[in-house]
Amino acid sequence: MKDTFKHQGLRNQLAVVLKNKGVTDQQVLEAIKEIPRHLYMDASFQDFAYQDVAFPIAAEQTISQPYTVGFQSQLLEVKKGEKVLEIGTGSGYQTSVLVHLGALVYTVERQQELYKKTSKLLPVLGYKPKYACFGDGYKGLPDFAPFDKIIVTCGAPEIPRALLAQLKVGGRMVIPVGNAQQMMTLVTRKSLKEFDKQTIEECAFVPMLKDKNLKKY
Ligand code: SAH
Repeated sequence: MKDTFKHQGLRNQLAVVLKNKGVTDQQVLEAIKEIPRHLYMDASFQDFAYQDVAFPIAAEQTISQPYTVGFQSQLLEVKKGEKVLEIGTGSGYQTSVLVHLGALVYTVERQQELYKKTSKLLPVLGYKPKYACFGDGYKGLPDFAPFDKIIVTCGAPEIPRALLAQLKVGGRMVIPVGNAQQMMTLVTRKSLKEFDKQTIEECAFVPMLKDKNLKKY
């Protein structure tokens, strides 16, 4: 696996593109400049890794568009040492951005093939999450709750109740809500019973799937 000066140059350009689109958080831009996105993709797509586009990965899923990764990360306002729950590990690229920001990342993926792939890849690249598992993100991770931040990287038909319950008071959740098309939604927990919901902009993610056959983890 190779990372070259050429890749580095392309990443710097990508960071400028994202900045012009509204990703202005300096730490997030640093992460985009650092993380070798091409190494999270199939060889056949690697030449396009620094275009601001989503690409197919295994199991009919996608690696999110860099703008989306940057924008969601910015909305989350991650601080060093915070516990962050990620639903939809996918390629592990968003996971790595969160690790780079200093978060303790707990990540869940429902495609076993992707879970296995990232379990090998992330330690090699030096972006190891605190905990990763194969499971159903609708349930969250009750054993590790509560979380300072929650990020969902697949389109959820509705906000899963279990995730709301696992958010700390004062915490933030960034989640695309909807079916074919979604609304990026920022949820802040005001108190034990009170949640503030803000819709930000339209977006398009692969669906958050329900799977009753998944084994308990
Ligand atoms: N952040 C990832 C996005 C991958 S696409 C990246 O940039 O690569 C969204 C991911 O959510 C897919 O890998 C999909 O398998 C996963 N997903 C869908 N439904 C899920 C569920 N119920 N629980 C956990 N993961 C889910």
